[in-house]
Amino acid sequence: MMEQYLSIKGANPDCLLFYRMGDFYELFFDDAVQAAAALDITLTKRGHHDGQDIPMCGVPVHAAETYLSRLIRKGFRVAVCEQTEDPAEAKKRGGKSVVARDVVRVVTPGTLTEDTLLDARSNNYLAALAMAGRGMALAWLDVSTGDFRVQSVEEGSVAAVLSRVHPGELLVPKRLTDRPDLYDLFADWRDELAVQSDSLFDSVNAEKRLKEQYGVAALDAFGDYERAELSAAGALLDYVRLTQVGKVPRLSPPRKLSAGAIMEIDQATRRNLELTRTLSGDRAGSLLETIDRTVTGGGARLLANRLSAPLTDRQQIDARYDAVGFFLEQAGARDDLRQVLRGAPDLERALSRITVDRGGPRDLAAIRDGLGLTAGIKNLLQKAGSLPALLTEAHKDLGVHDVLVDRLSRALADDPPLITRDGGFIRAGYAPHLDEVRNLRDHSRKLIAGLEGRYRQETGIEALKIKHNNVLGYFIEISARHASRMGDAFIHRQTMSNAMRYSSPELGDLARSISEAGDKALALEQELFEDLIGEVTARVTEIALAAAALAGLDWASALADLAEERRYARPKVTDDLSFRITGGRHPVVEAALNRDGEQPFVANDCDLSRDRNLWLLTGPNMAGKSTFLRQNALIAVLAQSGSFVPAEQAEIGIVDRLFSRVGASDDLARGRSTFMVEMVETATILNQATERSLVILDEIGRGTATFDGLSIAWACVEHLHDTAKSRALFATHYHELTALAERLPALAPHCMRVKEWQGEVVFLHEVAAGAADRSYGIHVARLAGLPAAVVARAEEVLQTLERGEQSGAVTRLIDDLPLFQAAAQPKPAVTGDGSAAPPPNPALEVLEGLDPDEMTPREALDALYRLSRMI
Ligand code: ADP
Repeated sequence: MMEQYLSIKGANPDCLLFYRMGDFYELFFDDAVQAAAALDITLTKRGHHDGQDIPMCGVPVHAAETYLSRLIRKGFRVAVCEQTEDPAEAKKRGGKSVVARDVVRVVTPGTLTEDTLLDARSNNYLAALAMAGRGMALAWLDVSTGDFRVQSVEEGSVAAVLSRVHPGELLVPKRLTDRPDLYDLFADWRDELAVQSDSLFDSVNAEKRLKEQYGVAALDAFGDYERAELSAAGALLDYVRLTQVGKVPRLSPPRKLSAGAIMEIDQATRRNLELTRTLSGDRAGSLLETIDRTVTGGGARLLANRLSAPLTDRQQIDARYDAVGFFLEQAGARDDLRQVLRGAPDLERALSRITVDRGGPRDLAAIRDGLGLTAGIKNLLQKAGSLPALLTEAHKDLGVHDVLVDRLSRALADDPPLITRDGGFIRAGYAPHLDEVRNLRDHSRKLIAGLEGRYRQETGIEALKIKHNNVLGYFIEISARHASRMGDAFIHRQTMSNAMRYSSPELGDLARSISEAGDKALALEQELFEDLIGEVTARVTEIALAAAALAGLDWASALADLAEERRYARPKVTDDLSFRITGGRHPVVEAALNRDGEQPFVANDCDLSRDRNLWLLTGPNMAGKSTFLRQNALIAVLAQSGSFVPAEQAEIGIVDRLFSRVGASDDLARGRSTFMVEMVETATILNQATERSLVILDEIGRGTATFDGLSIAWACVEHLHDTAKSRALFATHYHELTALAERLPALAPHCMRVKEWQGEVVFLHEVAAGAADRSYGIHVARLAGLPAAVVARAEEVLQTLERGEQSGAVTRLIDDLPLFQAAAQPKPAVTGDGSAAPPPNPALEVLEGLDPDEMTPREALDALYRLSRMI
């Protein structure tokens, strides 16, 4: 057995091997040590190898999914090794033959299909990044739904595309991970990375694989693929084949996303805007969570996908509005539809489990129940009126499934068990032969009950019972003191502390016929199950279409529901460069304010159309600048994803790329300071933004000294205005920048209005034309609880600064004012000869020797530690 184990383990060196032994999966050697620690289960020993104990641990087969999920979450891959022949076969071969075993599946994070291991509301993508010649491509697929896509990417956009797709597992050829210039890229995906041999990515082999998979002689029908795209898609397919050990799930042909079809949103922008998850990685608090009213897993996944990938084609976007608009008007139909959908099972995931041979009776029931809803929904749509294009398509795709639904309804029990092993899922009356065998079994059970009565009479033991357990099967039980009354016809089997157990030839016969009938029934059910699975797989394409149609209907009706309750409006998308939002609101902040019942959200207009396409927004902290900036970006994303938007009116010329530089967070993982991150992000924007882009920049230059910062901000504004010409919102606390308005015609200064009232400052959250006159920073400091003396002193300093020319004022302050004196004049020390001299300070010497410009953040941190130790 160990020989067999070691050879299978040798073929799967990077996986934990779940080796099937009866009712357990057992792990040996180092696998056992790792798994026992990860799962917090007991590590024991079994047998010897090379004179040493073999460490061992095991998990029961019936609970394996839970353990698997924990291992996968901790980053392990697991190869599941099953017995592939009946133990009786092995016996036939001769006394010591080991039952044949083989790996039937490799469980990896990107190839899961089990509901318990997946989040129903988001896709779990397996992605592959390939490079051929100079071109790069990313392909991704969801094994559990069959969704398969591929896209060429320029090297500079790989990070953006990866952050959009957000794969659960990322396959990369070895030669790419070896490249130092790509180190940063992969650093973000270290947990998901699965490095593969370069040969998996061979594009010639890939083309062959794809043709085989889809049974076509040429791939042209699906699109015109680049070599890198073929390589990525082929690698995925091969990997799925390897991990599923030959059983490839249903996969739609790889759909090619052409360059420019989707609004490009770089990684930083996507993160900062918290589209599908917040900066801390949660779904709660994201835009997605705020707008999600879907009632099915498929609908939720579609919403997440569409929000992550806003379109750039006006007609496609309009078609989506038409669908949402239809359900907005037809509120009755919408409510009915949503009521029906609430009971819909996850068709897509059930279907894909069935196609990889992991389907159970409950998956068949899901197909039955899901398809069972389609006829009613079609009816409902038809009655609702004349349908817009997308809904007409959905209506058609829902298809006709009467025969299959009828068959599954007749065949399956209402609430079938999860697995086939114990039978009991085929409905009585469906298969006469099965009914017969079951009757036989039940009849024998009745006979056993009769036998019990007879034995009681014959022996005169009132408490005699016929029982069943897994070890003895059926047996007769009496209390020990009655043993003498049992005649010769009874065969003694077991003596318990106060009971005796017997069998009898009659009981043996009946038990045998029950067990034979049971086995037969099970085999028959299994056969019928396979038939039904066959029926379903034969209609895989139609079922997948129906599943997609249900998801689309859920998506549209959920957004209509949202639009009605939150008063969202249908945007007008155009091909020009307009951007006119009337009464715009921030969807997430608005929802939070509503929830808390605080003051209502203040709506604001924004017009970045030609000749005023660069807004310079000034105002104190906490006045609402960031909120305003983000709300306009979010409105653009929502609009182009096909949703209505939180505004009275919105006219948006298609945005091809969205850029943002907001908030600031240290990226210490990559050794970058806040300011460095800020400048890297700003550089990306200035280098790449065009007329078609939408740019939001918040507080550029804040991370450095005032004059540095002001100069950088100044130059950025000029560049945006003269070179990029993007539609842009620029928030700043440098009031000096408003002076630029005189020279830059498209620069429109705006400010957040505040009101001073009885010495207090009230934020109105209103955006008005013109520049803010004060920054109210000290006011905010007071709000934040700075000591009153410090606030008063700050006000004094501010007045001095405001009176004079800045650098002169600082000198004056240092000379005149007590606060700075202590720092400016070190205390004199007395030397041996009585004269005053500054004390020699070793820390200062070290400090003098440092050149901050030449240091990495890490070195700077080390130096700081060194210095603090010297004091
Ligand atoms: P700034 O960027 O100017 O420092 P923020 O945009 O962070 O200010 O806004 C500060 C707070 O003010 C927000 O957390 C929000 O609660 C509130 N706020 C912002 N804009 C509005 C608005 N339009 N209506 C109501 N409250 C708002």
